[in-house]
Amino acid sequence: MEHTKAILLHVLPFQDTSAILTAFTENKGLLKFFQRGYGRQKVPKAPLTLLEIAFDIGKSTLYRSFSLSTLESYPHLRSDLSLLESAGRMGRTILLSQQMEHPSPKLFSLLETLFQNLTIEDPSKIAAMFEMKILYHDGLFGFAKRCTLCNAPAFSYYGHDAFCKTHSLKGHITFTYKEKHALSSLAHATSLRCAHRVPCDKILNEKSKLWFNSFYTK
Ligand SMILES: [Zn+2]
Repeated sequence: MEHTKAILLHVLPFQDTSAILTAFTENKGLLKFFQRGYGRQKVPKAPLTLLEIAFDIGKSTLYRSFSLSTLESYPHLRSDLSLLESAGRMGRTILLSQQMEHPSPKLFSLLETLFQNLTIEDPSKIAAMFEMKILYHDGLFGFAKRCTLCNAPAFSYYGHDAFCKTHSLKGHITFTYKEKHALSSLAHATSLRCAHRVPCDKILNEKSKLWFNSFYTK
């Protein structure tokens, strides 16, 4: 049997008493667990909770979980809608970007720290920072200078690709020089204080989300 710390991200009830849990684990990345007796037991049920999971490694990629206990329920995140939204956005970025069973201990540690320290001071900016840090962590962060299709100067972006004015389509994202600089500063921020100094208004925050999603939407 193995033990791991994990942040619960999704719960899918299965029949009456069981559930399939998706959690971001400390050393094995995203994993799915089958938990019997989920409906009956007093086990943690809320996503965005830090758990200790005892589980069995079988032949299937659906691990059998024997016990779940709450290490941290982050009540402060549930006390304010903007905090809960930003924490939920961070959880979704993990579900969207990380492959199953692909270890990312640094991202786990960052997410745990951010959940612990998220405050009502502009939490959506911290969610944008987390998106940029995932892109950087996964080697995706960067703005190509030339259009992918014709080599003319880049005007808009979608995932890895850059597009000139002629090849830009609706849904591609444009950034000013200052906005690119701000996103780069977020990707490299070494503390929350550092991130809070980066100018990132509502518009850039929304662009961060769209650009991040564009890497993972096919
Ligand atoms: Zn072009």
